[in-house]
Amino acid sequence: MEKQESRLVTVKFCDFCGNESTHLKKCAICKKDMCGENGNAKHCAYSVQDIYRYNDAARNVDRGICKECAGKKTNLTIGQLLDAMMGKSPVPTIYPLIADGVTVKTTQPNMALRKEWTDEAWSQRKWGVQGKILTHHDSHGLCYELRHEDGTTGCYDPSELEVVKN
Ligand SMILES: [Zn+2]
Ligand SMILES: [Zn+2]
Repeated sequence: MEKQESRLVTVKFCDFCGNESTHLKKCAICKKDMCGENGNAKHCAYSVQDIYRYNDAARNVDRGICKECAGKKTNLTIGQLLDAMMGKSPVPTIYPLIADGVTVKTTQPNMALRKEWTDEAWSQRKWGVQGKILTHHDSHGLCYELRHEDGTTGCYDPSELEVVKN
């Protein structure tokens, strides 16, 4: 026998790239879901397999920390941070790390991120120079737009900058 039925199925989508995914890994910090693309490495910076709290035997399931959250700061105690990572709500973070108008110095290119940049954006960056933060973007992971001392602009990953003065 053959007949057509419609059934309710749960379809999972990645909060980062919007693609449908059979397996989602939740970021323990922002609680966004990451697809399993590239062996989870597309959005995930760290895997957090098991956090166990002796106090009440609470256990966290297979979670991760996304690349955006890996660059965030928090002023929680370690215990508060772990509790919040096990919880359902996003973990409070201090974000962005560097405010607009702050003077920074560029250090050196983070080659691990080379493929995240277009050739044009990559070539606009200068090293060992000072500049002021114009703004930040976080559509593809956090990056800062900088006005260099010579008036040109470029975008940088947080790992490529050093704060000179606030
Ligand atoms: Zn994705
Ligand atoms: Zn996250």
